[in-house]
Amino acid sequence: MTMPETERLDAMLTRLKLTAIRERLDTLLDEAARRELTLRETLAYLCEQEVAHKEQRRIQMGLSIARFPFLRTLEGFDFSAQPAVDPGQIRELACGRWIANGDALLLLGPPGVGKSHLAVALGREAVKAGYSVLFTTATALITQLVQAHANGVLEERLRHFAKPKLLIIDELGYLPLEPGAANLFFQLVTRRYERGSLLVTSNRAVSEWGEVFGDAVVATAILDRLLHHSHVITIRGDSYRLRAKRKAGLIKPDSIHHQEQVVRG
Ligand code: ADP
Ligand code: MG
Repeated sequence: MTMPETERLDAMLTRLKLTAIRERLDTLLDEAARRELTLRETLAYLCEQEVAHKEQRRIQMGLSIARFPFLRTLEGFDFSAQPAVDPGQIRELACGRWIANGDALLLLGPPGVGKSHLAVALGREAVKAGYSVLFTTATALITQLVQAHANGVLEERLRHFAKPKLLIIDELGYLPLEPGAANLFFQLVTRRYERGSLLVTSNRAVSEWGEVFGDAVVATAILDRLLHHSHVITIRGDSYRLRAKRKAGLIKPDSIHHQEQVVRG
């Protein structure tokens, strides 16, 4: 006995992994008929739906692998509130050529100016462009490397952090690093050097990284590699959140500096 036509078609679409077409075949064919599409146009229409569906699934998967801690987008970034950031430069970075080249990107500036926002937003764009991305904080990264080192599995962790085409390390310099951390960080940077991109955000100027790493020699070696092919964006100005509160009259302008120092210290 032969399979009924619909079942046979269903099985073939499954085998070809054309799930979007399979799931919505009746609706799509009705729509094609309504639009009076030719056979060729109908085929193109079905393929379009399948491609769009696969593309969306790829992006969803990439975003979940990237482990972004929160949702931030470039569309959600108010450039007019942050004159220190050049929208043209950010849009250019969003295209991802720097990632293809394996360049580094440093986003520097005081707390609240949008460094993490831009890091996540650029990371999302990188996923959309087809790059593998992993987001982590400096503290989480170093903790894992130190632990892996202690347990004799450093190589495995280094490989894990070296794999994504773009590794985003947020909040370098907010907390003091443990002894030995500078060396492990250096090993990671060396491992990734000219193979994958690093995006690092920090509240400390590059000139202070000796202090951040507690070792001027290793800090210089790290910076030497990071800055070789790099883009450095230094964001100045007030915290976005505090500015919004100030605008709403919730805090007085002269309390801003005090608050910023509390956050930083
Ligand atoms: P940083 O990492 O520099 O400390 P964040 O990126 O965490 O600062 O920004 C603090 C908050 O303010 C976040 O919720 C962020 O989305 C928001 N924010 C900062 N700058 C902007 C901006 N220019 N437009 C929209 N939201 C912003
Ligand atoms: Mg931040």
